Amino acid sequence: MMKIVAAFGLAALATAIVLDARTPAMASTSIDACVDRLRVSAINAGVSRSVANEALGIVAYDERAVKFSRAQPEFKTPLWDYIAFLVDRKRIADGQRMLERHSATLDRIEETYRVDRHVVVAIWGVESDFGQVEGGFHVPHALANVICSGRRAKFFQRELNTILGLVTRGDVALADLSGSWAGAFGQTQFMPSTYKALAVDFDGDGRRDLVNSVPDALASTANFLKDAGWRDTRPWGYEVTVPSGFSGPTGRTERAEMATWRKRGLRKVDGSALPSAGSAALIRPAGKGGPSFLVTRNFDALYRYNVAISYALAIGHLADRLGGGEAFVTAWPTDDAGLSRAQRLDLQKLLIAAGYDIGDADGKIGPMTRGGIRAAEEDKGLPVTGRAGQKIYRTLGGQLSE
Ligand code: CA
Repeated sequence: MMKIVAAFGLAALATAIVLDARTPAMASTSIDACVDRLRVSAINAGVSRSVANEALGIVAYDERAVKFSRAQPEFKTPLWDYIAFLVDRKRIADGQRMLERHSATLDRIEETYRVDRHVVVAIWGVESDFGQVEGGFHVPHALANVICSGRRAKFFQRELNTILGLVTRGDVALADLSGSWAGAFGQTQFMPSTYKALAVDFDGDGRRDLVNSVPDALASTANFLKDAGWRDTRPWGYEVTVPSGFSGPTGRTERAEMATWRKRGLRKVDGSALPSAGSAALIRPAGKGGPSFLVTRNFDALYRYNVAISYALAIGHLADRLGGGEAFVTAWPTDDAGLSRAQRLDLQKLLIAAGYDIGDADGKIGPMTRGGIRAAEEDKGLPVTGRAGQKIYRTLGGQLSE
């Protein structure tokens, strides 16, 4: 598994969390002995004494890391909100600029790994907004806290020892280890074990530095996808039309030959026929009423990066849009579409201007913003949802197009 949680873009999307009500098993005073054991264990695992001492000499109790590791999402984000947030106009424009800026590197990456540059750049854009967003935790300290609170201790201890091993080898500096509470870090959010196995030095300085080197980060992502089975001889998938009354198999693992899907009446959404070779699976992630897709093994490679259909679909779609492709033809089954990042921020400003107390406008839809939305919905006679959608945005006067 690549990641425990998506760290940046996705965390920002679903920041509303319900914190576990149980009292943390660890008191702030009892962490020292545990951290000392971790320090010794790291040294025994091959981490240099100086790195272990520097990383784990003093670790403060971090209630936030422990709470995050126990948090459950407050509610499920509708897929159309997720896609609207991750594949918005700004991310497409920023990604197209990055494709130009790094075209020489991306040429070499495609030549070396045979992985489509648009897909690599899409992952970069979703994971760290093209290297602009850092994680909110110092990874060794966050991991030490999670381990000492007893949360999947064995798994996270292996990740901790691995990340300190990367520092020992000189791939990354301790000071650069900002990431998620669960250990994912760098511009494309690799877990330490994934980093150790699949990161590559692509700028030739002898270090695999996914924090400071764009070539290393992008090439490592391509290497990951290649290892996960990506082949540039096929697309990730297509939006398709499915005949009404279709009763065949649905689901990512229900693979069949393209010829079989043709016989079952599926077509590309532009009306053209499916290719004659290859195999694919039909997914209908928002049900029969929403867009349907035939997805190939390349989709499975994206899924491996972050185990969620929604994630793989967002990456595939963003990659297509970066290459000049259009939005999905079939509408989502909702009368209240999702908001782009610019619209989310604008909605918060409108709520504040209308007198709702939601704290600062930071673009993150957390519990306070949801509370403000609920209050505004009630005042405006809309169904009370607490969701940041087009209806409440337009009702409050929002005018940004996407
Ligand atoms: Ca390097």
